[in-house]
Amino acid sequence: MILDSLKHEPRVAICETHGDYTSRHIFSAIWSKCPVCAEEERARANIEAEARERQAKLDAWQRRIGESGIPERFHDRTLKSYKVENEGQRRALEFATAYADNFDDVLATGRNAMFIGKVGTGKNHLAAGIGLRIMHRDGRTVLCLTVMRAIRRVKDTWARGSTESETQAIAALTDPDLLILDEIGVQFGSQTENLILFDVLNERYERRRPTLLLSNLELTDVRAYLGERVYDRLREGGGEVVVFDWESHRCAS
Ligand SMILES: [Zn+2]
Repeated sequence: MILDSLKHEPRVAICETHGDYTSRHIFSAIWSKCPVCAEEERARANIEAEARERQAKLDAWQRRIGESGIPERFHDRTLKSYKVENEGQRRALEFATAYADNFDDVLATGRNAMFIGKVGTGKNHLAAGIGLRIMHRDGRTVLCLTVMRAIRRVKDTWARGSTESETQAIAALTDPDLLILDEIGVQFGSQTENLILFDVLNERYERRRPTLLLSNLELTDVRAYLGERVYDRLREGGGEVVVFDWESHRCAS
C-alpha cells in the first residue's frame, strides 16, 4: 500500500525542449506532460481554429458576393474607396452612404433610387459600394444585373421546356433586399419589356423592396424609356434621382 501511493507522488520529468518539470500521475500509466508544451499546443490549436473560422467566413462572403452578381472588378469598389474631387461627387457619395447606412428605413418605405450620368462617372462604383456595405454589415441580400438580363430571365420562362416558371423568375428578381438594375435604356424597350419591368418594380414596391436603377441616359430619355407608369412607380415613396453630371474620370480606352 505504501509503495503504491509512493508510486503516485509527483516526479521530476524532462522535456527535451523546456527542461525539467513536475509530472503528476493522472491514471494508470499516464503522467502529465510538459506544461509549456501543452500550453503551446493549445495556442496552436486556437490559432488553427481561428484561421479555419476566418476562412469559412471568407468563403461564405465570396459565395454571397458571387451570388449578388456584382461584377468582380467592382468587388473592391467600396463607399470608402470612392474618390471625391468635386461637389457633385461629394453629394453622390453622401446620398449613397445615407442610403446604405439607413437601409432599414429604405426597406420600411421601399424607397427606390436612380443614378443617371455618362459612362465613367462612378455610378456603378457607388451602387456596388451600397450593395457591398449592406451585404457585409447587415447580411442583406443584393442582386445586381442589367435590365436586359432581368427581362431576358423572365422571357426565357415562356419558352417551351423552360425549367423555371415565370413566377419563379419574377420571385428571383423580387426576393433580394436590394435589386440593382444596370444599363436602363441601352436597348429600346418594347411594350412587353416595359410590362415585365413594371411587374418587377411593382412587385418589389408592394413588398417594400427597393430598386436602384442605373442609366447612362439623360433624365428625359430615361423617363421616355421607362414610361410614366414605371417612372411614377419608381419615384413613389420618395425615390430620388441622383445626377452624375461631371466628365468621365476613366482613361480613354
Ligand atoms: Zn516542453
